[in-house]
Amino acid sequence: MSLEIKTFPLGPLANNTYLLMDSASLQAVIVDPTFDSYHILDTILKERLTLNQIWLTHAHFDHIAGAKLFSELRQPPLPIGLHPADLDLYHSGGIASVFGIDMIALPEPSLFFEDGQHLEIGEQAVEVIHAPGHSPGHVLFYAPQISTLLTGDLIFKNGVGRTDLPGGDGQQLMASIYHQVLSLPPETRLLPGHGPETTIQEEADNNPYLT
Ligand SMILES: [Zn+2]
Ligand SMILES: [Zn+2]
Repeated sequence: MSLEIKTFPLGPLANNTYLLMDSASLQAVIVDPTFDSYHILDTILKERLTLNQIWLTHAHFDHIAGAKLFSELRQPPLPIGLHPADLDLYHSGGIASVFGIDMIALPEPSLFFEDGQHLEIGEQAVEVIHAPGHSPGHVLFYAPQISTLLTGDLIFKNGVGRTDLPGGDGQQLMASIYHQVLSLPPETRLLPGHGPETTIQEEADNNPYLT
């Protein structure tokens, strides 16, 4: 019985939406629900999961587009969790307008993350790590019991997050990668917001942005 993670590559920007579940209690949370993420409802029903919360690594539109759908699955709505430093970005529709995309109005976040906070999924704990740079309130979700880190848009296989969008900061991004990611055990599995999974060791060896 442990923490399990399912990956759903979805939407026009090839986002990874993640479903985290405690296999003992069948409690679950969804991370970064993107466009077209209603496909995940099938899995939630089939596996008889109880979805409890929606966690956002950051507030760019492609990571929050499905938040309303999942929040409104139940009454009262399921809490949406976000770092408060990304609230302005969230309220602006996650800069969807910069990309010429119309966003629906989203429910207000009611769970505010801070660095070092422990979140629960049934009997499993997941740690919040504040890692700004791609956006001011970007966070990582760390599950040491399965050596797994959800990295959002901080670091990818052979890449790093862009820092040219409002609130981005290149120096901060590299500091976050060095202090918050590369300091973890090298075998740690990295599950990014876009593209294939990797490990800290693989990126330390091969990522051209890390010298
Ligand atoms: Zn982003
Ligand atoms: Zn993204």
